[in-house]
This record gives sequence, structure tokens and C-alpha cells, in this order.
Amino acid sequence: MSFHFTGFSLYVRLAILVTIAAFIGYFVGYFWPTIAVALLLALLWQIRHLNQLRSWLWRTNTITPPQSEGVWGAIYDGLFHLVKKHRSKQRRANQRIRRFRDGAEALPDAALVLSDDFVIEWGNKKAQKLLGIRRSGDVGQRINNLIRHPDFTEFLAKGDFDSLCHIPSPVNDTIQLELRVMPYGTEQVLFLARDVSKIYRLEQMRRDFVANVSHELKTPLTVMRGYVEMIQATDEGFDSHWQKVFGTMEAQVSRMDRLVEQLLTLSKVEINSDQDNKQFLDMPRMLNGLIDDAKWLNQDKNHNIQADIRGDLSIVGIDTEIKSACANLIANAIAYTPAGGDIEVSWQMVGNKAKFSVKDSGPGIKPEHVNRLTERFYRVDKSRSRNTGGSGLGLAIVKHVLQHHNAELAIDSKWGKGSEFSIYFEKPKTSRKNKKKKDKDKGK
Ligand code: ADP
Repeated sequence: MSFHFTGFSLYVRLAILVTIAAFIGYFVGYFWPTIAVALLLALLWQIRHLNQLRSWLWRTNTITPPQSEGVWGAIYDGLFHLVKKHRSKQRRANQRIRRFRDGAEALPDAALVLSDDFVIEWGNKKAQKLLGIRRSGDVGQRINNLIRHPDFTEFLAKGDFDSLCHIPSPVNDTIQLELRVMPYGTEQVLFLARDVSKIYRLEQMRRDFVANVSHELKTPLTVMRGYVEMIQATDEGFDSHWQKVFGTMEAQVSRMDRLVEQLLTLSKVEINSDQDNKQFLDMPRMLNGLIDDAKWLNQDKNHNIQADIRGDLSIVGIDTEIKSACANLIANAIAYTPAGGDIEVSWQMVGNKAKFSVKDSGPGIKPEHVNRLTERFYRVDKSRSRNTGGSGLGLAIVKHVLQHHNAELAIDSKWGKGSEFSIYFEKPKTSRKNKKKKDKDKGK
């Protein structure tokens, strides 16, 4: 039933009641008492309905309101309509939540919803299996209080959530997890952990296989090389045909030897995740040594090699790895720059980073190749690279070394003009000499 009334009609009704009471009171001779009784009855009627409303709201479980006529009937109708609207809204919201939960439970990954300060708000069943995070007990805790791996702590602190974090599962260290964090809603983040143990094991098998094969090849190659060199060194005069044969054999065995050497270096760099080997590096000394070696090796091509090395700038890192990365960039500049070209090696502060760069006036690299240069065995021009003795592994080694040192490789190359390969190291330290001086100054 729908009964429309306005505020004005209520006043009219009250006025009619008072007028009728006034008439009756006038005729029976009790004017004011009759009006008072009429108003009292009206009040009692309202109180009765209010009471009915209260017990419907608080005592009964039904959404159907009590039967009533007139104004109260209209009020009950309005309330019933509101309750129904609210219920259907709630049903729709519940359906949405159920759909989200079913979806999240169906995921093959552990999923957690976190607040923007990484407090756990919700998690699926996989989160308990892979991370040991229980929906019942751990909601309200910060995620880094429950996952305490140093790599994860660093990952959260860094806040670069375009990258991924790899750690062993806190409940079972044979399970390798790949963690990713992404914005979710306005003030939340979605945290996903995927079991990548299979891929990890395959990757480990591949690395072990390459390392073992390279290691096994090393001895026969050394023996072959030794014999070829021995034959070449004998006094017996071979005719020019055999001299050519032995020359080619020597060149090819040396090439294979270099390739195996680089494969072993790459395997070592890939396997090495030990941060304890890091130490204070005297970079100026190391770089000046590499430049001297380069000048000595470079006599054939007679490049103009310039160096601009800042003497008090050093970093913390793994000595052999940093040396190998810098040597690779210098060796590439020498290999790919035509005779008489210019090479500039520099070690300077740029902004808050230490920059090592090698700039050459070589052939440059077309933009479509630049992003692929750090892939294993990627060579822009295979025949030229082969002639220079290149294996396509040098920049792959550089990439892995830089990953261990939180450093970045930047390649700036103009086709036909030259290239600049730069490494940016974070948080450079002043040299030990300077540190001692500073400590001394502090002590004064
Ligand atoms: P390689 O052992 O073949 O030099 P790298 O991984 O060091 O392998 O380099 C990959 C490729 O990048 C090279 O084959 C070469 O085509 C290109 N490249 C590297 N450095 C330079 C450079 N300074 N100038 C031109 N091309 C370069």
C-alpha cells in the first residue's frame, strides 16, 4: 500500500482533531479538558506505534513491518522499502566478495592483500602453504615481521616493485619463491608469491651443465694447444701448406680456449651469490692497471687511449668480478674500434653515483641491437666478431657482475660514430686513504 502524506496534511489532521474536541467540549461544557483528553489520546496512539516500531526494529528478525494504516502505514512502507534496497545491495556486495575470494583461492600463487604500509589484511589458503601466513592469526601483522629473509627486507625497503624478489620459502627452503608486489585499489597492495622451484632447478641444472662441460673441455684443449705449439716450434721446416694448417689449428684452438674460459667465468659469476666476498676496492689502481695492459696489447692498432681516472673514488665489490667487467668494456672498445681511433676511459662521480665509462670512435651499434647486447652469444656482426676473437659472452658477464653490485649498464651508441658503455655504481665510498684521513680528522 502506498499512502502519501505531507507535513502540512499532518498539521491539518491535528487541527481537525482539536476542532472536533473543541466542539464537543463546548457542548458538554468541558472545553479545555476535552481538548486535553483528545490530545492525550492522540499522543498515546503515537506512543503505541513508536513502541511497535521499536520492537520491530530491535526484537524481531523479520524484515516485514507490522501492519498499520495511515501515516504509520506509510512510514512502515518506507522503512520496508529501504531495508529491501539495503539487503539487495549487501547481497550484491557479498557476491562480489565471494567472487574475488573464489578467484584468489583458484590462483596457483599465494596471494595477500596488504595495506600500503604492508600490514596483512587478507590471504588465501596457498599463503599458508607457501609462506606460513595464517588468515586467522596473522592478519594485522606487518609482512616483514613474518618473512624475514634479508633479500625481501631490502626489496621492500627499496620500493622498486617493477622488479621481482627471489627467496626460499620460509616454511620449506627447498621451495624457491618469486615474489611480486603491485598496487591494488587506492590504499592497498597485492602481494603474490609463486613457486618457481622447477624453473629454478632447471636453471641450476643448465648452469651446472655448462660449468661441467667447460671444465671438462679445458684439459683436452690445453693438451691440443700444447702439441700444436710444440709442432710449430720444432726446427723441422714444414712446407707452407703445413705451416698454414698448423697456424689455423693454433688460432682455432686458442679461440675455443678463450670461449671455454669465458663460459667458466660466466658460470662462476652466475653461481656466485656470496655477498661476503665484497671488499673495499682500490678502483683507481685497478683501472690504471687495466689501461696499461690495454696500451700494451694495443700496439698493433695504435689507438689514441685517453684516461680520466679520479684518484680518490672507490667502491665496495668483488675484486675479480669488477675487474672482469671493466676489462671486458675496454677490450670491446679496442676490438671494435678501427686502427688509429680514439678511446676514452673515465672514472668519475656523476650525481650521487660513480661512473665508469669507455667511449670509442668505432663503428657504433644500430639502436635495434642495443637492448640485446647483454644476451649470451648475441653478436651484432657475427663474422666481424669472430675475426676479433669475440664469443658474444663478454657483455653477458658484465650484466651478471653488475647484478651482484646493484649497478647499471648504460649503452649510448650512434651508428657510424662510436659508442659509450657506462657502468653506474651506487653509494661510492671515499678511498681507504681518505677514510683514514677523515677518521684522523674526526679524532682531532
Ligand atoms: P664479443 O665477445 O663478441 O665482443 P660481447 O658480449 O662483449 O661479445 O659484445 C656483444 C656484441 O656487442 C659484439 O659482438 C659487438 O657486436 C657489440 N659490441 C660490443 N662492444 C662494442 C663496441 N665498443 N663497439 C661496437 N660494437 C660493440
